[in-house]
Amino acid sequence: MQERVREELPGLANRFEAFVFDLDGVVYRGARPLPHAMEVLNLLHERGRQVYFLTNNSGATREQYAERLQAMGYPHARPEQFITSGWATALYLRRAFEEGAPLFVVGEPGLKQELASAGFAILERVESELPAAVVVGIDRAFSYERLAQAQHAILNGARFIATNTDATYPAEDRLLPGAGSIVAAIATAAGRTPIVIGKPNPQILQPFIERGWINPERTLLVGDRLDTDIALANLLHIPCALVLTGVSTRDDLACAPLEHLPQWALNDLSELLGDAVENLLIHAP
Ligand SMILES: [Mg+2]
Repeated sequence: MQERVREELPGLANRFEAFVFDLDGVVYRGARPLPHAMEVLNLLHERGRQVYFLTNNSGATREQYAERLQAMGYPHARPEQFITSGWATALYLRRAFEEGAPLFVVGEPGLKQELASAGFAILERVESELPAAVVVGIDRAFSYERLAQAQHAILNGARFIATNTDATYPAEDRLLPGAGSIVAAIATAAGRTPIVIGKPNPQILQPFIERGWINPERTLLVGDRLDTDIALANLLHIPCALVLTGVSTRDDLACAPLEHLPQWALNDLSELLGDAVENLLIHAP
């Protein structure tokens, strides 16, 4: 990452040198940027802060996510800032299998592209050649036929990998079924439990911490889901804020277990630049 001079920021944001934002429900919902998201991202860039994006959504490649944020009004977006569950899955598979290993993917073109770029062979169908693994992500063209193919491969020895198990994701005006609903169908049909790569599995962020790109003590993670974003931050001892523009609500906060509680709850991202005390929820970091 390119080094820039760090300048003062107003409010809570000034305490941190790096930020990890979830995307769906934090930066945008569907094609619509969330209120103040673009101005906050641009200000963090201008004031020399490191900005990363961490998404369980495996539907697009890192390049495609960067282009999406550029088009929404954050021209500084670069693929290296994006950590997606699809990319993390590719890194995991590179450690588990040899280059060129065949995979059956229940997922969208972005996931297939990410895995193909990592050197794997993507099987269109499970026939005589069995895949080394079945990789499952969000797939808005999911079908009974794909379910049957995945089931057959897993029952015949293929490893079962889920990019994430989010039950839902926030579209512009409602929640839609997430990858977890598709993973559940395959798990039921095959009678197996998958290896899950995405949040809250700390493995998704560990490579960035190990390389010194993210210092947990000086980083704020901002997410909209208590059971993935906030749970992961707490596992890695990263200060975290829940933003109430996505999946989790104030009512969810009231009944969440301790390990799912953030330090702050924000109505929208502009409150990162405000007085943190007003947003103090349960305890100070
Ligand atoms: Mg989200």
